[in-house]
Amino acid sequence: MIPAGFDYLRADSLEHAAALKAEQGEDAKFLAGGHSLIPLMKFRLAAPSALIDISRLAELQHLQQSDGSLRLGAGLRYRDLEFSPLVREQLPLLAAAVATVGDPQVRARGTIGGSVVHGDPAADVPAVLLALDATLVLRGPDGEREVPAQEFFLDFWETAARPDEILVEIRVPALPARRWGFVKFRQRSQDWATVGVAVQERADGRSAVALVNMGPTPLRARAVEEALAGGSSVDEAAAQASEGATPPTDIRADAAYRLHLARVLAARALAQAGAGH
Ligand SMILES: Cc1cc2nc3c(=O)[nH]c(=O)nc-3n(C[C@H](O)[C@H](O)[C@H](O)COP(=O)(O)OP(=O)(O)OC[C@H]3O[C@@H](n4cnc5c(N)ncnc54)[C@H](O)[C@@H]3O)c2cc1C
Repeated sequence: MIPAGFDYLRADSLEHAAALKAEQGEDAKFLAGGHSLIPLMKFRLAAPSALIDISRLAELQHLQQSDGSLRLGAGLRYRDLEFSPLVREQLPLLAAAVATVGDPQVRARGTIGGSVVHGDPAADVPAVLLALDATLVLRGPDGEREVPAQEFFLDFWETAARPDEILVEIRVPALPARRWGFVKFRQRSQDWATVGVAVQERADGRSAVALVNMGPTPLRARAVEEALAGGSSVDEAAAQASEGATPPTDIRADAAYRLHLARVLAARALAQAGAGH
């Protein structure tokens, strides 16, 4: 549980972080809350030559509403969203989901940007961003580019962020007064999701449904969405939640149990949304 040796460098600005990364090369990694990267280093699953600390950059901490969207700095911590009146009002699904991440210590250190770039399919925020149709703004040596959440998660722990890019912002269309549901099944109150389901009613009245821990990436449950759009009942639609999913088998549950859970939890999350959340 002791990481390999590494250099520690603290960036004073985004520009400084980019310069440090260019200087340190491929083997250096950005450090945000450290709640995914440091455990990986302790297990020797990662051995970066240097950590470039971006956790104190004010440029990554903004939280604003403009043009019908919320602009969330990638360095915002879970608790910043959990207790933000703006997020609670405009994106209640996101506020509810971050309140279930780990324990208060994890929520006080972990960042939404770190969760997204780490790309763990068992993480809550990535699936919620799929349901919310978020856009991720990355800054690299060639400037800024925007990637829809739908195209960002490529495989297990693999995302579209290049090693020299910093995720600077997450843009999410505001959805006040729209129905939502979020259900997370776990054995103990602070565990990661064995399976989770997020439901968000969009401005056009259709519902987006996304799944946590049901494959190598977070997933949209398209078959459920199509069944709902086609007029199916909640139970009929939820029965489609395992369609196309390839969940893992691990110490918490086997794949068959997760397929079952996805259907049960989808029904609960849809019922929660239907009940006026
Ligand atoms: C005990 C415990 C329980 C947890 N429970 C949950 C849970 O229930 N649900 C859940 O979703 N998560 C859970 N987590 C994970 C937690 O949410 C992490 O904080 C999160 O996954 C990573 O965010 P971080 O800021 O700590 O990132 P870090 O660990 O600092 O970084 C993670 C990766 O992202 C990169 N990175 C970070 N920020 C940026 C950026 N802005 N631009 C480019 N690259 C960047 C880093 O280089 C690294 O590769 C838990 C963690 C612990 C330790």
